[in-house]
Amino acid sequence: MSGIGRGVRGECAWDPEGSAERTPGDGPQEAGGAVPQGGFAVPDSGPSGPGSTARADVLARRLTGLLARIEAACTAAGRDSGEVRLLPVTKYFPASDIAVLHRLGRHDFGENRPQEAGAKAGELHDLRPLRWHLIGRLQRNKARQVARWAYAVQSVDSERLATALETAVAAALDAGERQQPLEVLIQVSLDADPARGGMEPAGVPALADRIASSPELRLAGIMAIPPLVADPDAEFARLAEVHSRLRAAHPTATELSAGMSNDLERAIAHGSTCVRVGTALMGERPITSA
Ligand SMILES: *Cc1c(COP(=O)(O)O)cnc(C)c1O
Repeated sequence: MSGIGRGVRGECAWDPEGSAERTPGDGPQEAGGAVPQGGFAVPDSGPSGPGSTARADVLARRLTGLLARIEAACTAAGRDSGEVRLLPVTKYFPASDIAVLHRLGRHDFGENRPQEAGAKAGELHDLRPLRWHLIGRLQRNKARQVARWAYAVQSVDSERLATALETAVAAALDAGERQQPLEVLIQVSLDADPARGGMEPAGVPALADRIASSPELRLAGIMAIPPLVADPDAEFARLAEVHSRLRAAHPTATELSAGMSNDLERAIAHGSTCVRVGTALMGERPITSA
């Protein structure tokens, strides 16, 4: 196993503590517990609503199934499961769910709205270790707020945003609000859809150089949300190419954040190191989001 010094199996990459192996073994180990692709068997309201014991059981069972699904995808792709981490995406779900997942050994969480994430970070202030990854669009005027609680921003797609984050992180470091530089992933656009955000592949090298030159930022890799309509294999293959070009110039930019509830197997087949999973773990969101 090549996992020495890397994140725990299933734990999202950025794990400075290198904490000991953990499994979500608290949950019921039911037969056939694997979550079907993109599926979720249990409703999210009523007795299994947020904060309930039943909810904790649901999350434990889904987490077990999801980790098995990731492991199976790694096996199918001929990869070591230690190379792929799970980033639970908890947008729209309450801090109580995050506390449950934290007890099950999850320390990294993805959120896509700065305001909602900041509120949860405040609520869960005492939980350690806890690392917040912003995976959604960020306006420059929110950078200062985000620099207080974010461990990583996976959605950096312009030099102007990188500069705003650099300034914001410097201020947060000065104020003692954070101790580490910000982990940054460049969000890559595969379809030039402005609504989805992301930098086109041709712009990635210059943006990468800009981020890498900043002491306040650490270039960790790239992230993408592939367009739904296209052939996902072709999109993930293009993304893997963008990533290998990036790594040629910046060898430490090892993260390839790709794959969600419905396509994580394909993403893992194409080299993903971090799958961002919402629905298959948390259940359906009340509103669909970007
Ligand atoms: C919501 C979201 C996800 C998770 O999507 P699911 O299909 O619910 O797993 C992943 N990445 C980003 C950027 C998201 O906004």
